[in-house]
Amino acid sequence: MRCAVIADIHANLAAFMAVLSDIKDKGQVEEIWCLGDVVGYGPEPHQCIELLRQCNHICVAGNHDLAAIGKLDTAYFNPDAAAASRWTAHQLNPEDVVYLSNLPLVIEKGDFTLVHGSPREPIWEYLISIGTARENLSYFKSQFCLAGHSHLPLVFKCDEAGECLSIPFKPGVGLVLAGGRLIINPGGVGQPRDGDPRASYAIYDSEGGIFRLYRVPYDVRATQNKMVACGLPLRLVNRLEYGV
Ligand code: ZN
Repeated sequence: MRCAVIADIHANLAAFMAVLSDIKDKGQVEEIWCLGDVVGYGPEPHQCIELLRQCNHICVAGNHDLAAIGKLDTAYFNPDAAAASRWTAHQLNPEDVVYLSNLPLVIEKGDFTLVHGSPREPIWEYLISIGTARENLSYFKSQFCLAGHSHLPLVFKCDEAGECLSIPFKPGVGLVLAGGRLIINPGGVGQPRDGDPRASYAIYDSEGGIFRLYRVPYDVRATQNKMVACGLPLRLVNRLEYGV
């Protein structure tokens, strides 16, 4: 079985469509595993939810998904994120709200645990250091954990003794899932933050137990123009072209 792992679409429809088209080109992907933050920051939250719902998929809730439906206080957000969240709340129809409010915080699927932030704190924690990777090992039972939230493609590999190291996760290099426990972040679709503005996602092939990262160019300018037209904060508009 092959499935695509995506995270942090962030209402960026152009990026999401480019990724879906790339997934189609790669072929034989049966299911999409989504790691949350479908909405927030970007200009097309309703359209992204609608498009995701047309896919055969599973999805966990992210902090921006919960904030947009009033389940999380935007006082915890920086001012730009909070402003975007308030705007997002007005773009959702009742069906979107029901969809987002039904998203679970954690999904256990075979050898994988899916979360937005971390297994220990699915909504807020950033799993970006070896220390947090190590501390989170006791919070999930499966061999592998998939997390989003940081918008950075990352892999932590941990041994039986709980010692972890960060291993490179670059496009085109197959990551073999054998031995040890892994925490994998496929990077962000709609607002990459590793200095590469292209949308980021991964495909998992259960046959060989291989994960592959892909980067997909999309029309950044189109998303930026829509954000400006919606009056979304300029700092959020500008960061997309730098991938930060
Ligand atoms: Zn996010």
